[in-house]
Amino acid sequence: MEILNKAPSVKGPAQMFTGDVWFDVIAKGEEPSRIRVNAVHFAPGARTAWHSHAVGQTLHVTEGIGLVHARGGELVVIRPGDTIWTPPGESHWHGAAPEHFMTHLAIWDGTESGPESEWGDLVTNEEYAQAPP
Ligand code: MN
Repeated sequence: MEILNKAPSVKGPAQMFTGDVWFDVIAKGEEPSRIRVNAVHFAPGARTAWHSHAVGQTLHVTEGIGLVHARGGELVVIRPGDTIWTPPGESHWHGAAPEHFMTHLAIWDGTESGPESEWGDLVTNEEYAQAPP
């Protein structure tokens, strides 16, 4: 058994996130495991860019009120206790509601070859403005 010291929180880079987003790495598997678990903290209005995950991703909301939107689908409000599955290759974004902080766990896998996530454009204010208050 090993108790791991908490690593410093990491600021979400501006190419991939709008607003203040910080994450804490909880697990990063060593081969042959490729499990990835991060706690991701979004300030009000902050969100990821559009992106997809090669083998999908599970989100689990632990605090606050957030939003998730898959391309072509409805914008969905997410709350503590909600678990969201985004299937492999599905373009989507996730983030905080306009007036609320939100924290979720993000759980995904790396891949044997190729990127585990593909990142696209930032979510515009017009796209985000569909968000309920
Ligand atoms: Mn995602």
